[in-house]
Amino acid sequence: MPQRSPINFQDLYHAFDAPVTAIDCGLKCAPHNPAGIPYCCDICCAVPVAYRLEWQHLQRHTDLWHAWQGDECKSEESNRSQLLEQTPPHLCLLACKGPAHCEREHRSVSCRQFPFYPYLTSDYRFIGLTYDWEFSNRCWVISNLSMVTAAFRQEFVATFDRIFETWLEDMDSYIELSGETREHYRAIHRRIPLLHRDGKDYLVSPLSERLYRTTAEHFPRFAPYTAPLSNPE
Ligand code: SF4
Ligand code: SF4
Repeated sequence: MPQRSPINFQDLYHAFDAPVTAIDCGLKCAPHNPAGIPYCCDICCAVPVAYRLEWQHLQRHTDLWHAWQGDECKSEESNRSQLLEQTPPHLCLLACKGPAHCEREHRSVSCRQFPFYPYLTSDYRFIGLTYDWEFSNRCWVISNLSMVTAAFRQEFVATFDRIFETWLEDMDSYIELSGETREHYRAIHRRIPLLHRDGKDYLVSPLSERLYRTTAEHFPRFAPYTAPLSNPE
């Protein structure tokens, strides 16, 4: 028996629809992917997740998605049991029909937020967005954070405020991930790039958690996207 969702995903999607950048960033990264498609839509690079109740919503409205089987990536074998084990119980792994069949209105929250996740301090304050560093050499947006629109940032924050007030277990997952983020940056002796919820940009010390004001133009950039910002390629 499907559970009634405390979140109306139709409304949530409607309120989280702004593109990450004003240009189609998929055109920037796809040429660098041997598969010729945007990295975040390549099941060999990223397996999308959905909240369990979001998955019920999607099943009612589209046949774009199916439960991830682990055999969707043809070029590489997936470690199915390991990935399932690593997935928090309130989430499920999905696969879509691919970018040629994408239905924009039925993208999951995980598609919409990519490459970002909510960053929380060690005293549990959701202060802004940071990116998944594992995609630094693949996702063009990560090297062009100044191109991220204010509308996307605002919608991202409002969406996760809404999700966190409903599902504490999701907040817990991001508290844990933010702790891992501090550990990662501590290990590489770098500060954490943060698109703050106040609209400004900062670098966060992974040790003291002190914020250092900067501008997104000064955030680190990564190959193959290190050409001058006036001609980012
Ligand atoms: S978000 Fe990153 S990986 Fe996804 S299409 Fe844009 S540049 Fe490519
Ligand atoms: S639903 Fe669309 S945006 Fe999401 S992974 Fe599939 S092709 Fe990419």
